[in-house]
Amino acid sequence: MNGLMEGKRGLIMGVANASSIAWGISQALHDQGAELAFTYQGDALGKRVKPLAESVNSDFVMPCDVEDLDSVDAVFAALKERWGKIDFIVHAIGFSDKSELRGRYADTSRDNFSRTMVISCFSFTEAAKRAADLMSDGGSMLTLTYAGSTRVMPNYNVMGVAKAGLEASVRYLANDFGPSGIRVNAISAGPVRTLAGNGIADARQMYSYQRDNSPMRDVCTIEDVGGAALYLLSDLSKKVTGQVQFVDSGYSCISMPTVETLAK
Ligand code: NAD
Repeated sequence: MNGLMEGKRGLIMGVANASSIAWGISQALHDQGAELAFTYQGDALGKRVKPLAESVNSDFVMPCDVEDLDSVDAVFAALKERWGKIDFIVHAIGFSDKSELRGRYADTSRDNFSRTMVISCFSFTEAAKRAADLMSDGGSMLTLTYAGSTRVMPNYNVMGVAKAGLEASVRYLANDFGPSGIRVNAISAGPVRTLAGNGIADARQMYSYQRDNSPMRDVCTIEDVGGAALYLLSDLSKKVTGQVQFVDSGYSCISMPTVETLAK
């Protein structure tokens, strides 16, 4: 099927480089005809994001640090001025102090708890509220989560708590915006080797464990996430909202290691 996103315009928040999940999503959307705007965090990442944006014919690239609400407002003001309305938004933003993505959750500091929550959870609500004002013909919103929200994953700690809040936000926002024809969903991706993913202690072991013990004996690529995102952001998923879609080779459905692992 071609041209699924023809005539649709939207904002991608969270491309850091060509390994970012947000970049896999951007490519899938571009391939189906979407027009894209991008934000980046800080000048160093801007240097990577601008050529990527150019490669998908976008010159709409703005700095945005979600800790600075003025920069968030500036992005939505620019979208309004340039396009008047948008059809979708992708929020692929997460951060926690690396020193607390190891060891015990119990040792999380108050400062890092608050910061992780604001950047990794509340920023979606703040962006969604502003995006909804521009979705005059309805729309679709998507954020990225991880299974550490509902089950304990080693070292994921405060990020798991933030993702639990993020997933609950998806449901509340879906209910708030549903009457305006705006859908809100999340993709729960399996482990992917990205800047953020590599910040978690023992990420390599987690990656191999999930690969070896999922039903498909695999994890997922940014292209796999892109495919699921295309479904959730296009009219193919017209009546799907408030959901968390796993893209993890089925790891989320198992309760025991595979027989191969047990035999080791
Ligand atoms: P990534 O490092 O490529 O992307 C993370 C993005 O968050 C970066 O672009 C970074 O600039 C942005 N960011 C962090 N703090 C910010 C701030 N204050 N303001 C604006 N932007 C900020 O890594 P990724 O793995 O592609 O992460 C994207 C999303 O996917 C995150 O929410 C992450 O938790 C989620 N996720 C990742 C994995 C994985 O294994 N990599 C699995 C499931 C979910």
